[in-house]
Amino acid sequence: MAEKKLVEAITSMSEDFAQWYTDVVKKAELIDYSNVKGCMVIKPAGYAIWENIQKLLDGRFKAAGVENVYMPMFIPESLLQKEKDHVEGFAPEVAWVTHGGLNPLPERMCVRPTSETLFCDFYKGDIHSYRDLPKVYNQWCSVVRWEKETRPFLRSREFLWQEGHTAHATAEEAEERTEQMLNIYADFCEEVLAIPVIKGRKTEKEKFAGAHATYTIEAMMHDGKALQSGTSHNFGDGFAKAFGIQFTDKDNQLKYVHQTSWGVSTRIIGAIIMVHGDDSGLVLPPEIAPTQVMIIPIQQKKEGVLKKAYELSEKLGNFRVKVDDSDKSPGWKFSEQEMRGIPLRVEIGPKDIEAGKCIICRRDTREKFEVAFNELEKTVEELLAKMQKEMLERAKKHLEEHTYTALSREEFENIFAEKTGFVKAMWCGESACEEAIKENMAVTSRCMPFKQECLSDTCVYCGRPAKKMVYWGKAY
Ligand SMILES: [Zn+2]
Repeated sequence: MAEKKLVEAITSMSEDFAQWYTDVVKKAELIDYSNVKGCMVIKPAGYAIWENIQKLLDGRFKAAGVENVYMPMFIPESLLQKEKDHVEGFAPEVAWVTHGGLNPLPERMCVRPTSETLFCDFYKGDIHSYRDLPKVYNQWCSVVRWEKETRPFLRSREFLWQEGHTAHATAEEAEERTEQMLNIYADFCEEVLAIPVIKGRKTEKEKFAGAHATYTIEAMMHDGKALQSGTSHNFGDGFAKAFGIQFTDKDNQLKYVHQTSWGVSTRIIGAIIMVHGDDSGLVLPPEIAPTQVMIIPIQQKKEGVLKKAYELSEKLGNFRVKVDDSDKSPGWKFSEQEMRGIPLRVEIGPKDIEAGKCIICRRDTREKFEVAFNELEKTVEELLAKMQKEMLERAKKHLEEHTYTALSREEFENIFAEKTGFVKAMWCGESACEEAIKENMAVTSRCMPFKQECLSDTCVYCGRPAKKMVYWGKAY
């Protein structure tokens, strides 16, 4: 009875995907709701995923010459207002600090929604000559955006992220860095999170407030909706001019720097859940899973069973392994391991010990393997690698199978009326046309992919000459 409860508590994906998601984040103990409206508590199982993301992504950043720093969390109003587009973009969702203790502040300060203005203010004083360039800084922190509607990981008033901010001597170097960081995000998603992404450029309407160009990686969730999973912005010299960040170049000329910024947040945990999860809960790619192998003893009170379980755990010391030696029933432990998405389960009972073997069960496919003790380490290594590879293959197949092409307005509208997924279609490049598509069809441009195809000569919606192929979709 008790064993059934855990599984019954989640809604099936096909019945109600949104409810399924909420059930999983709660039942897998990734988060808890908080009495602070719009904010969540990230529990150990969820935070451990973020720690792994931080560690692995930070390693890739450092290999690309990035240095970590920390900026203040408050931004004086006058500083936020220096770049016109930027303040317009963020003003509706910033939280203000008006008092210090009991006294009103002479100037109110916002809690950072993002830190471009702080980095610019700092760079203005820190950069003087070409010898001070480039600056390739990043910070891991939390930011605050006063969202009206919130959902665990996808949208909350305070969230964790990293934000990189760079300054360069030339436009070419800034462009190169913008692309380099986007590629690091894309490779990280594919290689570590087993999530395939579409790389491309945002339209004028969808780009970051104050940016010259925004590049994005877009992932498809199990329900066919898009999740913007990371962005990289080229600011050109717009912020530098607004903040007066100048340097003396080798030719003794005073020049403005060119800047970039790029970020990935805890939203990406939402992507892991919605790309890989199933009706039994979370399915974590082995590379990112905080626990890769859970050893579950059967009839653990019988002599020698627990001892053998610990022995196997030691044998698997090269992996992130745990023994569930709690006094819950094995069936309950199985459900829990499945709900938490732990990639492999090792079952070990008295009969297995006698036969010198154990059972390994894969979380994603539920395949079971009988493995001799002396083969265990090798088999676990192979299965984890295989699972990682096949999870990416399955996600790629899902992305391909739910990506459609529309050549006419009728086709464009019909696909979105009947199916969920991405639609590739030609577009005229006009913001008004894009706005009309959003208004009438409730879909947004996800990106203008770097890999362009010429599907036809006319815009799928308005019939004017086409300029770009765009991925369209519904998005989180
Ligand atoms: Zn058009």
